[in-house]
Amino acid sequence: MLLYPSQSIKIYNSLSGQKETLKPINAGHIGMYVCGPTVYSNVHLGNVRTFMSFDVIFRYLKHLGYKVRYVRNITDAGHLENDADTGEDRIAKKARIEEIEPMEVVQRYTVDFHNILNAFNFLPPSIEPTATGHIIEQIELIKNIVDNGFAYVVNGSVYFDVHKFNETNDYGKLSKRKLEDLIHNTRELDGQSDKKNPQDFALWKRAEPQHIMRWPSPWSDGFPGWHLECTAMSTKYLGEHFDIHGGGMDLKFPHHECEIAQSEAAKGQTPVNYWMHANMLIMNGKKMAKSTGNYILPGEIFTGENPHISKSYLPSVARFFMLQAHYRSILDFTDDGLLASEKGFNRLMDALSILNDLKASNTSSVAIGAWKQKCYDAMNDDFNSPILIAQLFEAVKYIHQIKEGKASISSEDLNLLKETMNIFIFDVLGLENSSGTAAGSDKLAGAIDVLIKLRQEARANKDFALSDKIRDELAEIGIQLKDGKDGTTFSLN
Ligand code: AMP
Ligand code: ZN
Repeated sequence: MLLYPSQSIKIYNSLSGQKETLKPINAGHIGMYVCGPTVYSNVHLGNVRTFMSFDVIFRYLKHLGYKVRYVRNITDAGHLENDADTGEDRIAKKARIEEIEPMEVVQRYTVDFHNILNAFNFLPPSIEPTATGHIIEQIELIKNIVDNGFAYVVNGSVYFDVHKFNETNDYGKLSKRKLEDLIHNTRELDGQSDKKNPQDFALWKRAEPQHIMRWPSPWSDGFPGWHLECTAMSTKYLGEHFDIHGGGMDLKFPHHECEIAQSEAAKGQTPVNYWMHANMLIMNGKKMAKSTGNYILPGEIFTGENPHISKSYLPSVARFFMLQAHYRSILDFTDDGLLASEKGFNRLMDALSILNDLKASNTSSVAIGAWKQKCYDAMNDDFNSPILIAQLFEAVKYIHQIKEGKASISSEDLNLLKETMNIFIFDVLGLENSSGTAAGSDKLAGAIDVLIKLRQEARANKDFALSDKIRDELAEIGIQLKDGKDGTTFSLN
């Protein structure tokens, strides 16, 4: 049962290039697939932004009462360097450099990914499948594509025949490319490739002897293509035709274009109704990316230890910063932006604590019902979080006016205002005030200072057991004490 059946959502569909009204395939249910990380290194803040966009979408759909099955995969094989069909597997390369097993790389960075997302208060997806856990499904899918005549086998590798596919289907419809232009723009690879055409892409690759991540298949001991993994996992858990597929803008081509082609070739129907693409986080005018070194790690935001920022920030402040931009807009990462967001976040949290103490009157001079609908309207309009946040600040204005006696609010409206603020700030935007109201964070800092002083006293009294206990128990709950020449400071992680 939808809690809010009257709310109708418009989604910008990258496929049609238009906003469309969300009509789920099964009433009240939504299937959503989002391409997850390739776990070969620490997630950077850019990755976090894309996943956060879909976390908020997941949260809002759930809030409206949809039964959402949200599938976000872990890519733990098959993603080669430069997103290409040749080159080393990203995970195997890291394993070689670090002299550890590929699955140790996968474990290390999957744990990092989960820790970071937890710190940002993400909801876990409903299913988090791994590519290596679905090799059988991928092989079956390739067999379908080969049987339908859209793939060919050369030297133990299987390639998708883009030219053949384009005779009956439209390769390029998502990224708005034409095959002729792609042909024109592709440089020949000196005949090095087994492919019939450079536009074809690998579904299965025969493993070279040194390639250690390999599985048996009807064609060779090898490994699946990166694009194929997502088609296999989305089909398995959401069916051949599902509602929403998301990912970062940079995945639209070739990754998502290839996913559409694979599904259409294997199953004869287009897989997804709404394709959603989140825009990039940039820094110094360039896309934040691991490969170029132009990135910042989330942990560095929490400790302040990065030359691009002047201080540490709470995860909720960084979250607030990112949600102040619409998911389809480019967002420029700056320290000034974070500082401004911290002020805004604190103002919002202050207003919440004032709200708790407000007294109701007999009548309202503020229109809370209409304001509440504006909050929904913002999210209904392609999940417009910055407009929603602007509405929350409208409420902050009301709260101050009521406190100062310049406006009045009935007890019914006061309850509605409290409930709506809580829904949008905590349930939908996923902000946290655990240490969080501005007053709260001051109090937390004050409390930690008291503990730092007690620890200094313990040390002065040579009670090292107690001083270590204070440090270690704080560390256990994520508060790190650091002793420096100017005394002890703390950071939260
Ligand atoms: P990867 O692990 O490289 O496949 O990336 C995981 C997700 O992060 C993908 O959806 C990418 O589109 C997304 N992503 C990578 N870089 C950025 C960035 N600078 N800003 C936003 N999203 C990004
Ligand atoms: Zn994918």
